[in-house]
Parts: sequence; C-alpha cells; structure tokens
Amino acid sequence: MPSHAHSHKKVIDLEAKSIELLKANGLSVTAPRKMILSLLLKEHGPFSAEEIFKKLPKYSCDQATVYRCLNQFVETQLVNTAYLEKELAHFEFNDPQHHHHHIICKLCKKIDSFHDCILDKIETNLLKKGYKDIQHRLEFFGVCETCQKA
Ligand SMILES: [Zn+2]
Ligand SMILES: [Zn+2]
Ligand SMILES: [Zn+2]
Repeated sequence: MPSHAHSHKKVIDLEAKSIELLKANGLSVTAPRKMILSLLLKEHGPFSAEEIFKKLPKYSCDQATVYRCLNQFVETQLVNTAYLEKELAHFEFNDPQHHHHHIICKLCKKIDSFHDCILDKIETNLLKKGYKDIQHRLEFFGVCETCQKA
C-alpha cells in the first residue's frame, strides 16, 4: 500500500514526542503505548489494529494490548478512527494541524488522503448555534485511476 504520509512533516524524535503526548493526555508511559504511538506518528495510516500489530517488532506485545492501547488513544483523542472497508476501524494519529479526509479505492483498497475540506463553513454555523468542540467524519469511496486502466 503506497504511503500517503505528510512529507512536509519533520521527522523529529518520535519517541520523545510520544512520551510528551502520553503525559499530556494523562496516560502513563508504557513500552507498548510508546511503541504504538511512535509508529502512528511515523506512518500516516489509517491502519487497522491488525495492521498495527503486524508492523510492531515481533513478540514486542500481544494483540490484546494493541487493541487496549488503541482504545485508550481514541478515548483521549490522540488517535482518530476511520471506518473504511467492511466498517472495520482504522486508526491514525489525530493531528489537529492537518485536518483531512480519505478516499478508498473500492477495488484495490488503496487509501488516499486529501486536505481540501469545505465543511468549515458548516462548523462555523454550528458554533454560532452554540455548539462546542465540533468534529466531523466523512469517508469517500471510489475507483482509482490504476484500477480503471486495468
Ligand atoms: Zn489520514
Ligand atoms: Zn484501485
Ligand atoms: Zn473535513
């Protein structure tokens, strides 16, 4: 699967950044949490829990731990979920500076991301109506160019 990482994002010390984020979100720093968060900072995803498990060094932690860590990350909003194929949860780091949406190819399942979002206007209107802490989620599905040629 081709990476769609934000290339302009500087690769800083991912482990230090993970520790900082865990602490800021009131989570104690454990080896699996640090490892999973570092991975999600490095690679954009979104990845299923199983994909994340497979990306971690072998025998570093079990799958149940990966699920537990991911749920904690979602609860603290460190991580976002996207529901792509078969309503399967995919996880990625929640970067408030890089709001984006995904499009997944219905045939090859390739995930692409794009940053143009026109929903800000709706959010502004909702703020005016008195709502706070507004979020939205929207996934697109289509057939990619490669698959069209095949
Ligand atoms: Zn993404
Ligand atoms: Zn495709
Ligand atoms: Zn949006």
